[in-house]
Amino acid sequence: MLINVQGPLNIILNRALLNMSGFKKLRQSHKKIITIITSLTLLYIISACTGIQTANVDYFADNGTGNSLAIVQNPAGIYHKGITYVSYQGPFEDPYIASYNHKTGEWLGPFRAGTSELGRREGRTKFDNHGKPTLLIDDDGYIHVYYGGHGGDKHHGTNTLGNIHHGANKNSISKRPLDITEWDEVDNISVFGTYNQAIKMDNGDIYLFYRHGAHRSDWVYQKSTDNGRTYDAPVSFLKHKRRTDLDAVDSWYAWAVKGEGNNIIVGFDYHLCWDGRAEPSGRGHTTERHDAHFMSFNTQTGEWTNVQGDLLNMPLNREEAEQKTLAASTGDMWTFNGSVKLDSEGHPHIATNYGVDLGKKTGGPKLTHHLRWNGSDWSQPTTVNGKISGESRGDFTVSSSSNIEFILSDNDGTDATITRWVSDNGGKSFSKKDELLRRPSSTFAVSSLIENSHPDARLIVAERSRLTPHRKIYLVGDNGPLGRLLQDATLEKDSSVFVSKIK
Ligand code: ZN
Repeated sequence: MLINVQGPLNIILNRALLNMSGFKKLRQSHKKIITIITSLTLLYIISACTGIQTANVDYFADNGTGNSLAIVQNPAGIYHKGITYVSYQGPFEDPYIASYNHKTGEWLGPFRAGTSELGRREGRTKFDNHGKPTLLIDDDGYIHVYYGGHGGDKHHGTNTLGNIHHGANKNSISKRPLDITEWDEVDNISVFGTYNQAIKMDNGDIYLFYRHGAHRSDWVYQKSTDNGRTYDAPVSFLKHKRRTDLDAVDSWYAWAVKGEGNNIIVGFDYHLCWDGRAEPSGRGHTTERHDAHFMSFNTQTGEWTNVQGDLLNMPLNREEAEQKTLAASTGDMWTFNGSVKLDSEGHPHIATNYGVDLGKKTGGPKLTHHLRWNGSDWSQPTTVNGKISGESRGDFTVSSSSNIEFILSDNDGTDATITRWVSDNGGKSFSKKDELLRRPSSTFAVSSLIENSHPDARLIVAERSRLTPHRKIYLVGDNGPLGRLLQDATLEKDSSVFVSKIK
């Protein structure tokens, strides 16, 4: 501040004031510099002691695209010989693969493992979101990734097992064993597939389960006995069929995984696929789904059985499913199927999500429930997080018939959370064990649990925001997320779809 005075006194006074303020400024800037140096030194000492310098951010990639992950594409991650391999849908809905070395703490990738038709289709105005990859490591160590299909496109011709939509189901194989840096696209599976689930049996045989087309299609598997180089023709196990009593088609959503020995177990729910105009509430085609079913496939005999061991006619139709495979009837509630596991007694446990139909195209929010077979009956489903309504998704492990552990994607107010829930009474009740990740003003999409998972890397999580189609991708374990340097997690993104078109 200068004082307005006249004459020589003016000059003397103003100089004095200038000197004073200059001195003050100098002192302030010195203070600032000292504070910055002290903070930097402290940060350096802390990071050197804790290893924080290798984890500037707690996500490993920021180029996840749209709905980058889901439980149905299983597995999206595999732990193998000290390394966790992870995958997600990235730019142009292509499959992206990264790996984390648990011994050295080093990340590699992500690398683009193939080219999806979905992200490059003509007239594309929004994400299709069926590009999500599924991983498998064969007995020679080659890594396989299945991706990019949503029922096949018109240019693929006729789908003899159902209808079509978009994309092409594809398979890429790593050029070298356990090396994610380079990939070959291999034309060896049906382009009509979607929702891939890849299973390797103890003898090395590979089974690829998927829906063979859009909503009105059979669910099938393809078998390979040469480490996934070639596959037998698709075999239907769930039949789509026009109803005679309603203007709708029977349809299904399934989740398959290796059971005991030579068995594969399958959990599934029923989709009532309305002809648009016939839907009773005038909503048109909806995602109306109901109930929880279970069955088992003996890969040696080729026989399918229900939980009591009764033989099933294949491909299974709705009438027989209602009689023989029903584990839980959800009545008017709408479902979204989850995973299925066997306990130490060989009894199946099912995770399924359901909630009240609130009149939306997707019904309403759905909560994760658990039920199990006790040897003679299915238990009543229990909500894992104890809430009455709301949205959650998750996968689980069972160490015995009574000890169950879920990792749930949930919300606490407007915060997205990943929490662990345990039951020691066979799923009668669950209690919250700990929180593994929390982010404000977002929701999480989660993978199924990583196959053969390391405790530090249980699942893959995508952070969804309404403001951007780009997703931060986390690898989350019992101690929270495994991060990396910001510069390594900052990747090229897909800017071809406008934010207003996010879906
Ligand atoms: Zn449908």
